[in-house]
Amino acid sequence: MQQLLFAYQLGPHFDLGEPIVLLESIGRLAARPYHWQKAHLILSAIRHRAQDDNVTLVKAPSYREFLASSAASFTVVNPTSFGYRKLVDSERFTVFPSRGFVTNEDRWASWMAPKSGKGFVFEDFYRDTRRRTGLLMNDAVPIGGAFNFDHENRLPAPKKVSSLPVAPPWQPTEDDIDAGVRRDLMRWQAEGKIQLSGKDGPRLFAVTRQEALAALTHFIAERLDLFGPYEDAGLEGDWAMSHSLLSVPLNFGLLDPLEVALAAEAAYHSGNARLSSVEGFIRQVIGWRDFVWHLYWHFGEDYTGLNFLSATAELPPSWKELDSTHVQANCVSHTIAKVSDRGWLHHIERLMILGNVAMQRGFNPRELNDWFISSFVDGTPWVMPVNVIGMSQFADGGMMSTKPYAGGGAYISKMTNYCGECPYNPKVRVGENACPVTAGYWAFLDRSEAELTGNFRMAQPMAAMRKMVDRQAIREQEKLRGTAL
Ligand SMILES: Cc1cc2nc3c(=O)[nH]c(=O)nc-3n(C[C@H](O)[C@H](O)[C@H](O)COP(=O)(O)OP(=O)(O)OC[C@H]3O[C@@H](n4cnc5c(N)ncnc54)[C@H](O)[C@@H]3O)c2cc1C
Ligand code: SF4
Repeated sequence: MQQLLFAYQLGPHFDLGEPIVLLESIGRLAARPYHWQKAHLILSAIRHRAQDDNVTLVKAPSYREFLASSAASFTVVNPTSFGYRKLVDSERFTVFPSRGFVTNEDRWASWMAPKSGKGFVFEDFYRDTRRRTGLLMNDAVPIGGAFNFDHENRLPAPKKVSSLPVAPPWQPTEDDIDAGVRRDLMRWQAEGKIQLSGKDGPRLFAVTRQEALAALTHFIAERLDLFGPYEDAGLEGDWAMSHSLLSVPLNFGLLDPLEVALAAEAAYHSGNARLSSVEGFIRQVIGWRDFVWHLYWHFGEDYTGLNFLSATAELPPSWKELDSTHVQANCVSHTIAKVSDRGWLHHIERLMILGNVAMQRGFNPRELNDWFISSFVDGTPWVMPVNVIGMSQFADGGMMSTKPYAGGGAYISKMTNYCGECPYNPKVRVGENACPVTAGYWAFLDRSEAELTGNFRMAQPMAAMRKMVDRQAIREQEKLRGTAL
């Protein structure tokens, strides 16, 4: 038998020990307008893996057409999306349990069982995983006496600097395969076979096992120690801050999340990184990543269609075309430019700038979800819905989080340096220099009053909004401003 390997299963832990068939499908790239650098990473990762002795690369318009052209049977590691799981749901496939996460489906099911599918809390799942893996544990007791050091990990961006005092991230050296990928992408785009968005640029992320290990080693040795304190901060001039940039190799399956967490834990034990940073990082890798994965299956295929807040606005051209030259709001203008430059933003820029603004302006959640998948180099079908529909848009009405992640300009002003260069003032909500994020926050509460009344965590901001004397003025001003910032 041969193993059919999907593009998100490229690491050794997905290898079932049989000859491998790997598909390069131009049809997949044509299915949506991918960011240049995302399309490059996908092709480069596949073509690099195809160099291995036991791998045969097949070029086909799509998986379905490839399967129709052959009668072979395959083994397969259960793939990572509803679409691919339907594809392998046939007698031709021997399907092995999914890999690439710390907790398997059985563990999730037994953790979830007593909750009857409701009332589950992330922190509870994370602690369960810590206990079960023994990561940062002394028997049953968490090292440092607590599971959570978030209070040490909320520093605002340092003042009067343009970047964090930390080593730059690891960067790969492009090779002949990358040159071939770039040539093919340019040709296919010129021939109208695919549509690409954003800018081409030097490859920034790991696409082979060897590169992924180099990126991991560099992050653990040089950058992890400062991960925690500035986890929630942002600087206009520092695109990577002290983040790991490991989501791409993790999502390609080139790194196993447990090996990543063990490497971070070892850095704590050797005195190379502080506990709050190591715990904060491990929380992301074994906690949030697995939680989002399991919820993708738990919430089901229709989840991306939810629209609790009835948000119907179309994404503006500056987002669709990744061209923010005419956007005045400094935070939005620079984050869109960063997406265009690299197809990547760190978490707080995704959540508290773009996600927050999208919810305030009432962008259609499904369209936004598609935009994130197309535009972000680490975007996959499984990772996006819970992060976008749930965490950032509250379109699921609270299945994922208890309240919307909505905030005004004060939060951005406190945690980042974007406001300094902005023509707007984060403290002002009505008038010419009114900050669209601050005014947008109040306009959002005003517009969503019916849906959010009854959410006890929103009671206080709702009460403040109802007392505001300029409620009507904000409403009119933000209606005029629309989605143009
Ligand atoms: C609106 C929105 C869209 C997002 N889109 C993606 C996406 O397309 N792909 C993606 O992998 N993550 C996504 N995330 C989660 C998170 O922002 C990214 O994983 C992170 O920014 C990637 O950068 P990093 O590797 O430097 O992460 P670090 O900050 O160094 O964190 C370490 C790792 O933790 C994992 N992680 C942390 N938070 C999450 C999370 N919420 N969901 C899943 N994994 C998490 C990632 O694997 C990440 O590499 C999104 C979050 C939001 C709010
Ligand atoms: S003032 Fe408002 S629009 Fe300008 S950068 Fe700050 S939060 Fe963004």
